[in-house]
Amino acid sequence: MFIVKKFTLLFRFLLLDVFFIKRRINTLELRSKLDIDEMNDLQNSFLLKSLHIAKKKLAAYHDLKVPTESSEIKKFISSHCPVITKEDLLTKRSQYYPNKGKAHFLQIVGKSSGTTGTPLEVFRSFDSILWENAFVKRHWQSLCNVKTIRRATLRGDKIVDSSQNKKPYWIYNKIENQLILSSRHLTKETSKDFISVIKQFSPDILQAYPSTAFQLAQYVIDNQLVIKIPYIFTASEMLYPYQREVIENTIGQVFDFYGMAERVAMATECRFKNLHINSDYSYVEILDENNNPTDEEGFIVGTTLHNSIMPLIRYKLSDRTKWKKGLCQCGSNYPMIEPISGKFEDIIYDTEQQAISPSLITFAFKGVNNIERSQVAQISSQKWVIRLVPTKNYRSSDGSQILKNLKMFVSHNINAEIQLVNEIPRTVAGKYRWVINETTTKIESEYNV
Ligand SMILES: [Zn+2]
Repeated sequence: MFIVKKFTLLFRFLLLDVFFIKRRINTLELRSKLDIDEMNDLQNSFLLKSLHIAKKKLAAYHDLKVPTESSEIKKFISSHCPVITKEDLLTKRSQYYPNKGKAHFLQIVGKSSGTTGTPLEVFRSFDSILWENAFVKRHWQSLCNVKTIRRATLRGDKIVDSSQNKKPYWIYNKIENQLILSSRHLTKETSKDFISVIKQFSPDILQAYPSTAFQLAQYVIDNQLVIKIPYIFTASEMLYPYQREVIENTIGQVFDFYGMAERVAMATECRFKNLHINSDYSYVEILDENNNPTDEEGFIVGTTLHNSIMPLIRYKLSDRTKWKKGLCQCGSNYPMIEPISGKFEDIIYDTEQQAISPSLITFAFKGVNNIERSQVAQISSQKWVIRLVPTKNYRSSDGSQILKNLKMFVSHNINAEIQLVNEIPRTVAGKYRWVINETTTKIESEYNV
């Protein structure tokens, strides 16, 4: 397994980084300096190209009369291209996939892991994968001004067999200067070894899920150790304010990244803690329930600009946010959005069917001790379960305090019970959902470069 993984990494490096990536990053760095009008023109020309590809390759757009001029393209899209969803991709495959939905032998197929139901597939061009990597690296380099970045990765990578019970739980990818750690093996017992190997490696950046960086920070505190990493790049899960606070007070500055397997939107956090939509990555709209543009909170809808195999046109995600007005002090011309408020399917409701913000729920846990991990799940329209992994000092009064706090700080109309568990399962990709609505069927969207 090690050999295969190392070979894959070597192959990826040779193909991607040496010959292609560096030039693309330079191009992207120049693009990030364009003014608003120049960026708009560039985006329009990419959009026009994507639409031509869609017309040629995807049955759903065969009859589209694509304009010749790019300046009117956004107006054209909003009046001629319907908003599509994951449901459309799953049920009308012959319409929205090239070649009637059949992948060629060498076709690159990106997959999002489904927690329930069918995983979603997206065909990707080789070129789009190179661009994806270049965009991610542009984000790192915009903050971390180091020529060769040393990177530790603590995400869901399956690099060590799950049955393995002794170190090393990591591999070193020398060519990319990367230490890849198996977050699935990070426990109270192994935490000292993880912290020690990361310290020894001395990375410039840590790439992590918010939950794995938070877990690492908690173990650093528990073991009374010190570890400093200048930049923590989080992605793939909701980043909660309490997680950011603990990680920043313990390890280093957090910069969040928003993306997904469908690759229709990318937002990167700058040093002023604003999330910027990368306008040269995709075309993003924020639309209300009736698919009209809104300045209030709405759904993120994105159109691919770089996938020449299977462009997604006006693809609606279940993530919600709103535009943030004004200009950022960082000087970037990319528009800003408010933090993503979570997946629509994972919104949970009180017994009066009032939606409850996960950030608000964090108040119920403030000052409550003796809990190693928790999860808040809606199991029916009238009931929540608070799953707790207790520490050895846990008393039933700790759980009662949470229930009391929920009523006091969150909503009077919450009917919840405490459930003590040995562990809280992660998703197939090793991700952790703190707030989860188990009454809805959902398919997980996943960012997986
Ligand atoms: Zn900024």
